[in-house]
Amino acid sequence: MNRYLLLFTFLVFIKQPVKSQPERWQQSVKYKMDINFDVKKHQFDGLQVVQYTNNSPDTLYNVFYHLYFNAFQPNSMMDVRSRTIADPDKRVGDRIVKLTTDEQGFIRINSLKLNGRKVLHKSVGTILEVKLNEPILPNTTVVFEMDFKGQVPLQIRRSGRFNAEGIEYSMAQWYPKLCNYDYQGWHANPYVAREFYGVWGNFEVNITMPSNYIIAATGILQNATEIGFGYSASEPEERKEKNIWRFKAENVHDFVWAADPDYKQIVNKNDDGTIVRYFFQPGEKTTENWERLPVIMNEAFSFINSKFGKYPFSEYSFIQGGDGGMEYPMATLITGNRTLPSLVGVSVHELMHSWFQMVLGSNEALYPWMDEGFTSYASNEVMNHLKIKKLIPGEPLDNPHIKDINGYINFSLSGKEEPLITHSDHYVTNTAYGVGSYTKGEVLLEQIKYIIGEQAFESGMLQYFETWKFKHPNSNDFFRVMEKVSGLELDWFKEYFVYTTHTIDYEIEDFKDKTIFLKNKGFMPMPLDITVKTKDGKQFQYYIAQEIMRGEKKGDKVFKNFKVLEDWAWTHPNYSFKINQKLSEIESIEIDASKRLADVDRSNNIWPRLEPKVKPEKE
Ligand SMILES: [Zn+2]
Repeated sequence: MNRYLLLFTFLVFIKQPVKSQPERWQQSVKYKMDINFDVKKHQFDGLQVVQYTNNSPDTLYNVFYHLYFNAFQPNSMMDVRSRTIADPDKRVGDRIVKLTTDEQGFIRINSLKLNGRKVLHKSVGTILEVKLNEPILPNTTVVFEMDFKGQVPLQIRRSGRFNAEGIEYSMAQWYPKLCNYDYQGWHANPYVAREFYGVWGNFEVNITMPSNYIIAATGILQNATEIGFGYSASEPEERKEKNIWRFKAENVHDFVWAADPDYKQIVNKNDDGTIVRYFFQPGEKTTENWERLPVIMNEAFSFINSKFGKYPFSEYSFIQGGDGGMEYPMATLITGNRTLPSLVGVSVHELMHSWFQMVLGSNEALYPWMDEGFTSYASNEVMNHLKIKKLIPGEPLDNPHIKDINGYINFSLSGKEEPLITHSDHYVTNTAYGVGSYTKGEVLLEQIKYIIGEQAFESGMLQYFETWKFKHPNSNDFFRVMEKVSGLELDWFKEYFVYTTHTIDYEIEDFKDKTIFLKNKGFMPMPLDITVKTKDGKQFQYYIAQEIMRGEKKGDKVFKNFKVLEDWAWTHPNYSFKINQKLSEIESIEIDASKRLADVDRSNNIWPRLEPKVKPEKE
C-alpha cells in the first residue's frame, strides 16, 4: 500500500482503548521500516512509519524516542558512567572514549512528521525530544514518519559490528524506538547500558543488503523462497546483487537482527510446534556444540511451557552475535565459542527471557529483578531438569537455588546491598545492581515459594503468565497474583524484601523443659518451618505462620505433614512452644531444614548448636 494512502487510513482511524486490567491501559504501536544498508560504510538509511495509538486518558504534548546508538560516542552518558563507576563492566570500560569518528555509533534524524506535518525535534544524547504541534488526544491514533541515518559502532556492548567472534553485524537497539508512556508517565531513560522498556506492537521491517549476507531476526521472514539460506526448502535459482529481507513480527516490543555472510542455519521444529532456528558461524569451537542444541532446547521448551506458560510465538532464533547473551523478542544474541554446558546455560537463560520480559513486559528499568531475577530462578530450574534428563553433564540438586541464596546472603552482609526498588540505572555499583536484579530477584521467588508452598507457587507462576502476558506487570501485580493463589497476605514481604535491605535471621535460642525458645534477631519477619528429629529416628514438623499473613501455606512439596502452631506476631522478638520430647531424646531441632529461607546466619538455626570449628593453631 502506498505510504500516503496508508497515512490517510490512519488519520480517520479511531480505536477503542486496549485494557489490560480493568483500570490499566497500555499504548500500542505499529512500526514499518525500510532499511537500506551500506556494508562498506557500516551505515544505513531508514524510513520509519509509526502508527501510534494513545490509549491513555491523557493528552500528549510531546513524545520521546530512544536513539541508543548515540551512546557509542565519546563523553556520552554511557561512556562517562562507565569510566566513573567504581566497578566498571570490563566489556565497556574506557573503550567508548577511544572510538574514532568512523568507529562510533549514531542515529541522526533527517526529518520527522506527525500526520504529514513537520514537527520540532531535538536529539539529546540517546533521547530524541519531540514537541508536538498538535497534541495527541486520548483514544486516537496518529502517524509519525521519520527519515533517519544510522552508523553501526564497533561492537562495545550488546550491539555493533565485528564482535569478538567475528560476527559482522549485531543489530540490537539500532533504530529510533518510541519510549513508553504508561500510568507512571514517560520513561525516556537515557541509555547507560542497562535495561529496556518498550511499547507493545507490530513490526514490519524490510532490510536491503548485499545478497551474500544471511540475516537472522525477530519475527517471521515473509519472502523465504526468494531468500533461501535455510529459510525455505530450496535455494533461489539466481541471486540478484541485493536481497530485500522482509520480516514481520506481531505483539512484540522490540526488533533485533544480525547479519553475517558465514552464518549456517539449523532449523528444528520442536515437539510444541515452535520452529527454532540456530544461526552460527561454523568452526572448531562452534559446530559440534551448536548441532547438539536443538535436541536439548526442545526439552527445555517443553519443560518451560509446563512450568511457566506456553511459548506464544511460532518461531524463535538463537543467534551467534553480541557480547555474551542478551534477550530480544523471538530471538537472542549469544556468543557462540563455548563449551556445551556454557552454550546451553546462556541459551536457556536468554530463552527464559521470552517469558520474563518478552511476554511479561515489565518495565525492566524500574523492576530489573522481575526479568533478570525471575529468569535466573527459572533458568536454574530448567538446567536442573536438563541434568535430570541427562541432556547436559552434572548432578541435579534438590534445591538448585542454594548457591544463589548464599550469594545474596554474602552480599547482603557486605553492607553494599541496595534495595530492589532502586531504578536499574541508578544503583551505585554494577555489583549491587547485578546481585539485586539477578540473585536477590531469584531468591525472592524462592522465598515466596517457601512462604506460600510449592503448589500455590507453581500455579501462581502460570497464573501470573496468563494474567499479564503481553502487558506491563509491575511488582505489585506479581504479588497480587501470588496472594490470590495462596489466599495469604504478602504485602509485608514485598515491603521488606523489595523496598528495604532488611535481612532474615531467626535463632533457636534455647531448649529446656520440653520447650523450644525461638528469637527473631533480624529485621524481617518470616514464617518458620521447624523440624524436630529424635534419637529413635522419628521426625516431627512444626509450622509457625506470621500473623500478618492471615493464614498458612498448604501443599508444600519439601515440608510436608506439619503441625500448625499459633501465629507469630512480628512485633514480638520471642516465641516458644512445647514438644513431647525431652533433651535426652532429641537428635536435632532445626529452622528450615530445606535451606530455602534466606537466613543470613544459619549457625543459630540448629539445636544443639554446632560446635564452633576450632581454628588450627599457628605452626
Ligand atoms: Zn538475563
